[in-house]
Amino acid sequence: MANERILVIEDEEDILELVRYNLEKEGFSASGFATGEEGLRSALNKVPDLALVDLMLPGIDGLEVCRQLKREPLTAKVPVIIFSAKGDEPDIVSGLEIGADDYITKPFSPRILLARVRAVLRRRASLPVSADTPLRF
Ligand code: CA
Repeated sequence: MANERILVIEDEEDILELVRYNLEKEGFSASGFATGEEGLRSALNKVPDLALVDLMLPGIDGLEVCRQLKREPLTAKVPVIIFSAKGDEPDIVSGLEIGADDYITKPFSPRILLARVRAVLRRRASLPVSADTPLRF
């Protein structure tokens, strides 16, 4: 179960560190980026097992990051969990429509984060490798 590579894109340094710390403590390999551009570059360079993406980012926002990940054949199957602040409901809906697998509302507890990450990875692992079936909510 351990050692999956998690890409974290979050411009708030404290949250990025908190997320990375908790992922690494659980045996995940986490790499963090403060902008969507850097995160996307990293994802194409080394495809992660899951991406955690904040909605509000400087430069391209989380929705655009999600859109680009899903559009790029190399990363189209990478599950995406969106971080959102309270009041972002329309953006959450857009994110899920674009293909995000789940979302976490900030502020969140590390335990919730880890539970969501594991749940999404588990769901993904149980799908046939070649399946294009969208996940159901
Ligand atoms: Ca942010």
